[in-house]
Amino acid sequence: MVKLTFYGGVGEIGGNKVLLEDDKGKLFLDFGYPYSKYRNFYEEYLKPRAGAGLLDLLVMGLLPHLEGIYRTDLETGNLWQQFRRAEHYRKLEDIDGILLTHAHLDHSGHISFLREDISVYATATTAFIAKAIQDSGKASFDQQVCYFTPRVEECLKGWKQGAYVVSSGGGRQRRFCVANKSGLSEEAENFWERATRQKKLASQPLDDIGKCNFNLRCFPVDHSIPGACAWGIETSSGWVVYSGDLRLHGKRGKLTESMIKQAAQLHPRALILEGTNVGKAANIAEEEVYENAFKAINDARDLVIADFPARDVDRLLTFLQVARDTKRKLAILPRDAYLLKTMRLLEPEIPDIAQEDSLVIYQETTAARSPDSWLRNIYQDYSNKIVLAKDVRSNQGDFILCFSFWDLNELPSIQPRAGSLYVFSSSEPHNEEQAMDFRRLHNWLWRFGLRGFGLPVERRNGTWEIPEEEKGLHASGHACGPDLLRVASEIQPEVLIPVHSQEPEFYVDNLSDSGINVILPAADGAVEI
Ligand SMILES: [Zn+2]
Repeated sequence: MVKLTFYGGVGEIGGNKVLLEDDKGKLFLDFGYPYSKYRNFYEEYLKPRAGAGLLDLLVMGLLPHLEGIYRTDLETGNLWQQFRRAEHYRKLEDIDGILLTHAHLDHSGHISFLREDISVYATATTAFIAKAIQDSGKASFDQQVCYFTPRVEECLKGWKQGAYVVSSGGGRQRRFCVANKSGLSEEAENFWERATRQKKLASQPLDDIGKCNFNLRCFPVDHSIPGACAWGIETSSGWVVYSGDLRLHGKRGKLTESMIKQAAQLHPRALILEGTNVGKAANIAEEEVYENAFKAINDARDLVIADFPARDVDRLLTFLQVARDTKRKLAILPRDAYLLKTMRLLEPEIPDIAQEDSLVIYQETTAARSPDSWLRNIYQDYSNKIVLAKDVRSNQGDFILCFSFWDLNELPSIQPRAGSLYVFSSSEPHNEEQAMDFRRLHNWLWRFGLRGFGLPVERRNGTWEIPEEEKGLHASGHACGPDLLRVASEIQPEVLIPVHSQEPEFYVDNLSDSGINVILPAADGAVEI
């Protein structure tokens, strides 16, 4: 008998945390950051208190009440006493590991809170991207997926009680086990074990996936971030396959096709399948994004800004091709350059920034007095590739700038000419906070006289829609309804359990004649198979 408990990802998109228990051991399938649950209580200026450790997250129901799996340095005082009578409280020890599907934070973020000796199983690309994101991002206490600095209680002068502060002892790295460890270069291993933000890091070399008590299969799939995979776990009830996030219509759709074939051969007892876009009837392919973006940008004379999702390397390469074909230079931000440089350690087909004529790096105008070492290294390694606001200002027709809403603060320094083009190549707003940002984005465009293309416009009834003639600039990271039904019916599991979906009933409605038993788990609920 295998027990699957769904601590996240039920009725919500993201936040997947599925506990698999068998007599062989216990595994978590992803351990993600539940954005929608956070939004119920928090926003930019109201966040869980870092100094309160796990307390806020447990009280607000953002982390499962599982004593024994979390970092002890985040347990303040007699933390667990108040939760021992809670409905879903459990003491849980001896976790064999986390099977991480990809480096999007809604799947990986809460790994930050787990004990460092719990291994994380992933593809090497996912491990490296997770580290690059952490190295180059804001190291807030709930996004320390690869390494963290433990907290210690200190008596502050004049305070009645001690406070929890970041220790000065240096960082500790988590143990990652990767599926293709043997092919790693020395340079790649060095990247993994080197701290770029902290002076000291107690590093842990990458280990091999074969160390797990379970027989595992790692199937690469296509998604809007490189390195994504699905997992197969051999249990006493048969194979359990967990899809993570996937699509068939992307540049690497063949990976997903081959996962389907191999998973079907396992005749799985259960398939845990994502359902983000079950309501969509069709998808736009990445090639169409190229065609549409090329058409829009080829006619432009002044500056072009391209706004696409962070870490979507396929989209970045699509715009790089558009830049080559429209004789412009693609100006990327340092964090994107760092991501490309990191990915090249594993995938030599990723372009080398130094050798790529159509690629330059935009240096932000205002900088910290002492930039982190990753950033200094980017500026040093590619010193002849750096462009400044004044370079873009005086040669506006030469560039495609890769900016998103969060980078618009550079525009007063660049002063784009009126009529410059803002190409929007991402998804429409999904909640009120994002809608507010879209209204601000429209105001920015108005302020500088920029022409939006592919940008969702708010209708009178409050819905957002891309004008008909400007559609086709975004290929989703997720398969559409008919593709997901194909995944299910070709793998043909005995049991299908939907996750990562707001409409899981879709599978019940559409698979009733398929011989597949669809089970909808309850939040924090268990399914036995
Ligand atoms: Zn994802």
